[in-house]
Amino acid sequence: MNDQWYFEIGDGNTYGPFTMEKLQKWAAAGNLMPTHRVRKADSDEWIIAAYVPGLELTTMAPEVIAPAADDEASLGKSLGKMVRGLSKKNKAADAEQESAEAKKKKSSNPLAPIEPPDIVGLCDELLETSFQRGASDLHIDPEENVILIQLRVDGELEPLRKLPKSILGPLIGRLKVLSRMDIAERRLPQDGRFIRELGPDKRKIHIRSACLPTTHGERMTLRLLALETEQLTLNRLGMSEKALEIFAKHTGQKQGLVLLTGPTGSGKSTTLYAALRHRLAHHPGRIITVEDPVEFDVVGVAQAEVDPGDKLRFDTALRNILRSDPDVIMIGEIRDHDSADIAVKAALTGHLVLSSLHTNSAAGVITRMIDMGIQPYQVAATLRLSIAQRLIRRLCPECRKPRKLSAAEAKVIGHPQAEGSTIYEPQGCEKCNDRGFRGRVGLFELLPINREVARRIVEGCSEGDLASYASEQKMPQLRDDAAQKLLAGVTSFQELVGISAW
Ligand SMILES: [Zn+2]
Repeated sequence: MNDQWYFEIGDGNTYGPFTMEKLQKWAAAGNLMPTHRVRKADSDEWIIAAYVPGLELTTMAPEVIAPAADDEASLGKSLGKMVRGLSKKNKAADAEQESAEAKKKKSSNPLAPIEPPDIVGLCDELLETSFQRGASDLHIDPEENVILIQLRVDGELEPLRKLPKSILGPLIGRLKVLSRMDIAERRLPQDGRFIRELGPDKRKIHIRSACLPTTHGERMTLRLLALETEQLTLNRLGMSEKALEIFAKHTGQKQGLVLLTGPTGSGKSTTLYAALRHRLAHHPGRIITVEDPVEFDVVGVAQAEVDPGDKLRFDTALRNILRSDPDVIMIGEIRDHDSADIAVKAALTGHLVLSSLHTNSAAGVITRMIDMGIQPYQVAATLRLSIAQRLIRRLCPECRKPRKLSAAEAKVIGHPQAEGSTIYEPQGCEKCNDRGFRGRVGLFELLPINREVARRIVEGCSEGDLASYASEQKMPQLRDDAAQKLLAGVTSFQELVGISAW
């Protein structure tokens, strides 16, 4: 029994005994993973698989699950089959394998242990489904008796399926391996990331993962970065022609500060990246970004990933970047006086600086900068454009239902004369997975800092006064953009009520 081993994958079963050769085969296929435990048949001591010499554990998914040659593999694959059955790709491989092998071997050795479930195939399939449904996040949430798999699509959470609780350990283990997390650490939150080729065109998708212990076990959230963004050029973001013109003019300038604002999830980084791409296409030059995390790869842009929680490194990175003399600097987010100060100095010394911060309106950006300790004259001298942004869901054009805008609603959107206009409601069809919405679109408010606005900033004009001035000057406002998109049938009245643009 020297070369005989048992193993556990956290589903409550003990598998084996098997030869080391067999274990190695499963390890190479990714079915036995570093988190799993093994023990020699003649020993009671369990060892984490990663620490077993000679057992070479893969961290990569195999192209096709290698068919096992031995008797045990084709028998009693109840759980393995159930899990694997979820994956189309592996279904074909399974069928082939079964027809060839199972026929001649089915009768032998009915007491042999079952094959471990195909966790690798399951993970591949979950990621692939997330990508194809256009999800931004994949959530794996353990509950008392099941694992709930959910997707976030267009900002809304939707259940995908439930999985048996018994595979939680292997599932999380596999995702930790992919994310290069510490597989043995189960009590502390961890972050990781990896790149995956998904979809029919094998697009490289950056995935950022976070793992969090809960009372029902570890939960995992995977964020598929760059999913929407690649298609989101400035035009497709839904900027009106007038807004686009202002935006393009200011992001094409040699120096100054362009700041974006909006609540979390309002698509600020999407717009920042779209701006970078636009800038690169029209004014080639050196572009450097400092972000946490680097969300999207932009060809031709040097990107530094720095955790703003690590203040020292963040500020140092920013200063180093200034020394390397780029034309454009993108700072993911301005959070405090130091980063605001560096951004202002960079903007004063011949750089175009793009960044974002948290407030509600375009005029609020000015107040926020001053609150962070930047002098009003410095804000006036550097800020060129302030943009507020929201994201709303776009109605599915296939199934939207027309109706008339009521007098009360017309008043709410600030266009009483629009009473009786045709607007649309969501319905749901095959094309939109019965959601009634497909994709999202931005609402924008732009405040270009012209001479008059700059004068008012220096004089300490209030946020409200600046906002009314912007409105008088017919600068693009959130509420106007919202009304326009409602009347154009892009979105529903209900969708706009939630965004507090009124
Ligand atoms: Zn539809």
